[in-house]
Amino acid sequence: TGRSTERAATHTAALSPLLKQATPVLAARGEGVHIWDEDGRRYLDFTAGIGVTSTGHCHPRIVAAAQQQVGTLIHGQYTTVMHRPLLDLVERLGEVLPDGLDSLFFVNSGSEAVEASVRLARQATGRQNIVSFHGGFHGRTFGAASLTTSGVKIRAGIGPLMGGQVTAPFPAPYRLSRYGMSPENTEAATDFALGELDFLLQTVTAPDDTAAFIVEPVLGEGGYIPANEAFLTGLRERADRHGILLILDEVQTGVGRTGRFWGHEHFTGGLGGRRLADVLITAKGLASGFPLSAIAAPRELMERAWPGSQGGTYGGNAVACAAALATLDVVRDEKLVENSAERGAELLAGLRRVAAARALPGEVRGLGLMAATEFSHGDGSPDTAAAARAQAAASERGLLLLTCGPAGNVVRMIPPLVVTAEQVEEALGIWADAVAAAG
Ligand code: PMP
Repeated sequence: TGRSTERAATHTAALSPLLKQATPVLAARGEGVHIWDEDGRRYLDFTAGIGVTSTGHCHPRIVAAAQQQVGTLIHGQYTTVMHRPLLDLVERLGEVLPDGLDSLFFVNSGSEAVEASVRLARQATGRQNIVSFHGGFHGRTFGAASLTTSGVKIRAGIGPLMGGQVTAPFPAPYRLSRYGMSPENTEAATDFALGELDFLLQTVTAPDDTAAFIVEPVLGEGGYIPANEAFLTGLRERADRHGILLILDEVQTGVGRTGRFWGHEHFTGGLGGRRLADVLITAKGLASGFPLSAIAAPRELMERAWPGSQGGTYGGNAVACAAALATLDVVRDEKLVENSAERGAELLAGLRRVAAARALPGEVRGLGLMAATEFSHGDGSPDTAAAARAQAAASERGLLLLTCGPAGNVVRMIPPLVVTAEQVEEALGIWADAVAAAG
């Protein structure tokens, strides 16, 4: 550790211990996939600000768009005056959103957008209950935290939480393999999850009381576990049968992260062209680091909510909208969705090689540039300490990584989508050393 790290430690004494920092790095600047600390040390950033800086740090086109907007209009409050960047973004998002999700509402963060989707679902259906899935992460504000079951620290000690939340199983084959299922048997895990959901609809939350299902296409904070086609199609069928809305939380999986523009596009084959989502939530990668999030839904659905019941001082901020427009251009022009799929496949294959070479118990899994290694003991129980050692050893060697999963035993890689094949190789080399050093 360098001098800047020591200085940071002194200064952060004045910051609340509520914050927990994953690495000791004091970042001075960023460019592409790299961050430099105040001593000039360079790191490969495979955290991307928790899956946010998809176009890389300080992409010149994002910088230019934001600078231009800062000198034109910083804040056009959207319940007071409308502004051009927001209108342009609505049009531009219309080109990438699934057909039929033609009405948009903007806020600032993933959590706020999740809350907006719950308000919409409750008002539009007149029903109260929201089913979320075990291991799901939807945010830290009270409504969003109430739907979050990715780790007890998000919920512990702050209750009572929002009422009307019901948790159903998520098809997590590796986790279920501890109870005798095969870790490869996605079908059995899915039958279990959908069967339990039907049982909940018979025993806990009557369909007529159930406003929505909310689900991530890939469990993010809950451990990087992809959903699958049968599961999501099963949710759609139940939503149709019972008049329940299906909300897709694409906060982490959206805008190219998984190798498709939206994560759920991997799983729509069984729908015969029908739309999966009634409401889609996007944030994180949407604006390359500026705070911006949105919910998209059919206009008829939005019309069933009460006008003026949602809003916010900063929602749809003009600079954030300009950055989002530039982000969508960069994603298209630099073919970042394709790059995410290709580099993601290389990354996953490399992580599998490292795990196999060291005969690590656990599982390597992912989708596109959401790739992870779950550290387990021989009996399949979580090895949190091994994951923490590997993550720390990687950051000492210049590769920034985060952990996730209910026990924090999953080390994840979410590089910017501009990452190159050489940078993936470099990161894998560091990862192999870090895993070896971590024992
Ligand atoms: N949903 C998902 C799937 C997320 O990954 C996150 C953030 N990790 C959120 C919601 C909450 O977003 P925010 O932190 O911007 O409130």
